[in-house]
Amino acid sequence: MKLRVPLVDLSVQYESIRDEVDAAILDVVRRQQFVLGPDVERFETEFAELCDARYAVGCGSGTDALLLALMALDIGPGDQVICPAYSFVATATCIARLGAEPIFVDVDPATCDLDVAAARKAAATCTRLRAIIVVDLFGRCADLDGTLALGREFDVAVVEDAAQAVGADDVTGARAGSRASIGCFSLYPTKNLGAYGDAGILTTNDPEISERLRSLRVHGSGLPYRHHDLGINSRLDTIQAAVLRVKLQYLDGWTKLRCGYAAHYDRAFLAAGAVRAGSGFGPKLPVKIPPATQAPARCVYHQYVVRVPAPDRDALREHLAERGIDSAIYYPLGLHQQECFAGASDAEPEVLPETESAARESLALPVHSELRPEQLEHVISSLLDFFRREGNPE
Ligand SMILES: *Cc1c(COP(=O)(O)O)cnc(C)c1O
Repeated sequence: MKLRVPLVDLSVQYESIRDEVDAAILDVVRRQQFVLGPDVERFETEFAELCDARYAVGCGSGTDALLLALMALDIGPGDQVICPAYSFVATATCIARLGAEPIFVDVDPATCDLDVAAARKAAATCTRLRAIIVVDLFGRCADLDGTLALGREFDVAVVEDAAQAVGADDVTGARAGSRASIGCFSLYPTKNLGAYGDAGILTTNDPEISERLRSLRVHGSGLPYRHHDLGINSRLDTIQAAVLRVKLQYLDGWTKLRCGYAAHYDRAFLAAGAVRAGSGFGPKLPVKIPPATQAPARCVYHQYVVRVPAPDRDALREHLAERGIDSAIYYPLGLHQQECFAGASDAEPEVLPETESAARESLALPVHSELRPEQLEHVISSLLDFFRREGNPE
């Protein structure tokens, strides 16, 4: 059977909120106030509330949020910043862009988040460690307790790349973006809370950092045409803020749908013997599902990523494509293997086994909030079909 199942379906979502979004955009156009202003301020207030953070500062993208965060911490040439090797490239380009050295650390095999014990070992060998970036990968909060303790131990700031985790809660029940020195969010169209173009936002509880970020995003100025800091131009676009204010009201409902679809996948794959409860690959079908979270933790399933060992992963991907189902590989390479960082460090290139095996095995299945039940069932039956046809022992 062929039934189209895209990884995201933004037009279906737009249809459901069309009148409100159109009115919000038109309102900005009528007022002709395109840069900052009340829409941006209100969105920042509402976003800070959502994240349980004291301040939120809008900017041009998630990538700029990370760059601004490191700028606000005065990271510069010669400094070292630890980050996990398994993430989107922007997690580390911000470090290299400022002339600092990214220290890539392997990930926890269960969650693919920063392995804090490995980070501690790396930190002990650093001579100019200034910050640690953790990533809430796929919508699951990283080990903030462990990372914040590590930050205190080495007296460095912790930056949380929460680009994929808006509305997620960690194991203590604290919101993504509420505990680190600075939280960085992407509002890229396909993120859980997506604008209609590029957009990003930062959160912090520190009034000085908040003021610094506000200045850095407008050319490092406080008073008009007085520039005390080397800034950039990266504001949250006003039309985007107006769209985001509409969408923010629906976010929790959309997140609940994502979580429901993820739980449905979990149950179906477990029942079919595709996975062993807990961790490890299944006794019948070689699939590993994302680790479960228990309240008060909450994963917002930006992606639902299964692990399938080679060579099945790529063959499964093709099999799904033949049935109209989109899937994606986040990410095919570790950051330490990306060409763009080849000159960023003097250290010998390292083998990071957990990162590299995640890159070989990960496959993201559709989990967006607009999925219909028959699409969900089509993904499940197509995946199970693949392994049955492969002749795996029952
Ligand atoms: C999307 C993303 C970014 C970058 O955000 P943009 O808004 O696309 O610039 C950074 N880090 C992670 C983990 C992301 O998923």
